[in-house]
Amino acid sequence: MTSKISVLGSTGSIGTQTLDVARMHGIKVTALTANHNIKLLEQQAREFNPEMVCVLDTGAAAQLKIALSDTDIDVFCGEEGIINAAQEKTSDTVVNAIVGVAGLLPTVAAVKAGKNIALANKETLVSGGSIVMKEVKEHNVKLYPVDSEHSAIFQCLQGCPENSLKKIILTASGGSFFGKKRKDLENISVKQALKHPNWSMGAKITIDSSTMMNKGLEIIEASWLFDCKDEDIDVLIHRESIIHSMIQLKDNAVIAQLGVPDMRIPIQYALTYPERLPSPSAELDLSELGGMTFFKPDYETFACLGICREALRKGGLLPTVANAANEVAVDMFLKEQIRFLDISDIVGNAVSEYGNNKDDISLDDIMNTDRETRISIKEKFGSGDDLS
Ligand code: NDP
Ligand code: MG
Repeated sequence: MTSKISVLGSTGSIGTQTLDVARMHGIKVTALTANHNIKLLEQQAREFNPEMVCVLDTGAAAQLKIALSDTDIDVFCGEEGIINAAQEKTSDTVVNAIVGVAGLLPTVAAVKAGKNIALANKETLVSGGSIVMKEVKEHNVKLYPVDSEHSAIFQCLQGCPENSLKKIILTASGGSFFGKKRKDLENISVKQALKHPNWSMGAKITIDSSTMMNKGLEIIEASWLFDCKDEDIDVLIHRESIIHSMIQLKDNAVIAQLGVPDMRIPIQYALTYPERLPSPSAELDLSELGGMTFFKPDYETFACLGICREALRKGGLLPTVANAANEVAVDMFLKEQIRFLDISDIVGNAVSEYGNNKDDISLDDIMNTDRETRISIKEKFGSGDDLS
């Protein structure tokens, strides 16, 4: 079991729930990071007394340095500071709860420093899975999934002999727009898309759930974590989010992991594995729930699912392109610069138009492709934002 953690993205939805688990079990926190929310970061720093904190935003970091000047806590800033936090020397595990591909380099840095990783940041594996998995093997560290579906699969696999897995069944809530058709989604507002039926999460993943890009990203994430191909991963709509995913074994036995939708269960398992300790989450009462429903996904309305499958099948840099295009598109949608259905069109076009794919890719290839994809989409849509 982990005893000392660094939490990257500690001020977000997963980050704060990670600290709930750390608080409950007395896990020492050695580093905390945020993008710009220094108010919460200061509170967290005062409660957990880490060795260091880091804020990406330089101005905010300067303010935090003043605010924490009565403590011994070192304050860093920028991407380099986040890498320092990922490599903080006293931690044994790094919880990566950063949103987006910004989490990739810190993950690689942490692995190279010999840290185990509790990974919520799925974009790390979608964009850089080949590199991350190679480094994990080379440095002999553990990569524990935090994403609820992947944690469920990991939990179901405990005790199963190697090579007994036949298929993964990833469950999906279906998001806010389950049952709708494309024409119903033409005028979806940001507010409507930000309403998730079962989970309370950060803005980006909530939009990803509404387009089902989240499930597409999770198919790619699962392929790296469990060494599976596209055709070995089914998606099943399960509106109640009680079954967090299932595995089918070679003898056709199906094993599922159930629980109330509370991320603190998978977060805790990633930190206490293989131990099972009391959890801050509520108990599941199936008699109160009454029933569960299951449906096939609608690949026509939720095009992102099929686009991610195509990116996974073709491999190379295409998952990087799909992820980068989606990050830009979601950001533009949240700023009301594009419409809801534009998100899947942008991701689909980026993947189908990408002409420089290759199999043998480096971390530089991934970072360059990520940047170029963002720039070309922002140029096309005339977004006035910083093009880096
Ligand atoms: P949030 O938006 O709630 O939190 C993101 C965290 O990362 C915040 O601490 C934020 O700081 C920080 N951050 C944002 N941008 C950057 C950046 N460019 N560099 C460094 N730090 C940054 O996201 P979630 O907690 O919802 O999601 C985090 C990750 O976990 C995502 O990859 C998501 O897909 C995954 N995940 C989330 C689940 C959930 O239930 N929320 C479930 C399963 C997976 P600040 O607060 O200052 O903005
Ligand atoms: Mg998930």
